[in-house]
Amino acid sequence: MIKFKGCKRCGGDLETASDLHGKFVQCLQCGHLSDMDIPKPKVTVHRGRLKAGRPPKKKGTKTAA
Ligand SMILES: [Zn+2]
Repeated sequence: MIKFKGCKRCGGDLETASDLHGKFVQCLQCGHLSDMDIPKPKVTVHRGRLKAGRPPKKKGTKTAA
């Protein structure tokens, strides 16, 4: 896909390309490279038990046999 006159550097035409690192646009006139603006996915943090491992034992629940 080519975006005409989208280069920030020279105002040239940008072509969309991609490699291992993701998508980017390259200017056909000056060769300027820039990453495409990809919206970051929202990260949802689940709040619950903050400490890893077993929950602490409750006192007073032990029954003697
Ligand atoms: Zn350019």
